[in-house]
Amino acid sequence: MHLQTLIKSKERPFLITGPCSAETREQVLQVCDDIAANGNADMLRAGIWKPRTRPDSFEGVGEPGLEWLVEAGKRTGLPVTTEIANAKHAESALKAGISVLWIGARTTVNPFAVQDIADALRGTGIPVMIKNPVNPDLNLWLGAFERFQKAGLTDLAAIHRGFSVYNHPKYRNVPSWELPIGLKENMPEIPIICDPSHITGRRDLLLEVSQKAMDLNMDGLMIETHPDPDHAWSDAAQQVTPEGLKNLLSHLVLRSSVVEDALSQELAEMRQQIGLLDDRLFEMLSARMKLSEKVGIFKRRNKVTILQEDHWKKVIDSRLEKSDEMFLTPQFVRNVMDNIHQESIRHQTRVMNPDLKK
Ligand code: PEP
Ligand code: MN
Repeated sequence: MHLQTLIKSKERPFLITGPCSAETREQVLQVCDDIAANGNADMLRAGIWKPRTRPDSFEGVGEPGLEWLVEAGKRTGLPVTTEIANAKHAESALKAGISVLWIGARTTVNPFAVQDIADALRGTGIPVMIKNPVNPDLNLWLGAFERFQKAGLTDLAAIHRGFSVYNHPKYRNVPSWELPIGLKENMPEIPIICDPSHITGRRDLLLEVSQKAMDLNMDGLMIETHPDPDHAWSDAAQQVTPEGLKNLLSHLVLRSSVVEDALSQELAEMRQQIGLLDDRLFEMLSARMKLSEKVGIFKRRNKVTILQEDHWKKVIDSRLEKSDEMFLTPQFVRNVMDNIHQESIRHQTRVMNPDLKK
């Protein structure tokens, strides 16, 4: 089976679903039969070896679970996938007949582990999906793809599951959409599956993240389902029943990534206007930096520091106060001002200390 071809041949979203963990044979078969009966899934998932943050959590059923998953695949006619974290897992999963393997977020961070797995799979041609590393490092994610490609494994896909942060008020793992977008730019041939279950950590947010993934033209979704989510042995708060998933998908709005000819003229005009505004924004930024340099020359002549905290605080506060009336979020205003300030400091430093390397 060729995963990239399969994903392209299906309507978006390519749907991978199944329990976070395989718990018992009955649980795996029940949830997979229910999923298949709904007719919306393209692939079944179940975790057999579970990388858990704390040692007392359920760490997966191990090898016996492989047979249950393969059995579920045969009954439903769907391909099956599980996470592998080392060469031994790779060997067992291949022997059992798992159709597609995935590399978990905690493995992608470690180039030695990724290389070991790539070496173990060399020559097998098996499709592999690579989750983003737990930290937001695009190069680390790209590097994992390159290691598999160099081992001759080219049938690859990405899974975007978000990035670790300490105590986020909303998400279990922040999506940082700029990273999957960066992956698309660097490796346009790699399909991207979004995993809202691990991004949100809670089932009430699955729809909004799935919708965002579809609006960013991601290829598919991986969503955890369980026959009795509240009593799941892992990730209980984020799992839904197959019926719950069906309901969620019915609310998803799918928009086309290609613009019809009749509409494209209208869009082109709006984009042209945006382009003109961007030109003006940058002309003004450039003029502002020239003024910053004049300020730098003044400070140099009068021997005052670049930064005067009180002044900067006043500038920021007055700008933040106006964010509402400008229909901008305070966070955006803060980010823009911080970036302008950084660039201004760079310009002032250049004129104040012309002999220092920038
Ligand atoms: C999972 O998919 O169940 C899982 C453990 O994911 P991640 O590697 O994204 O934490
Ligand atoms: Mn999980």
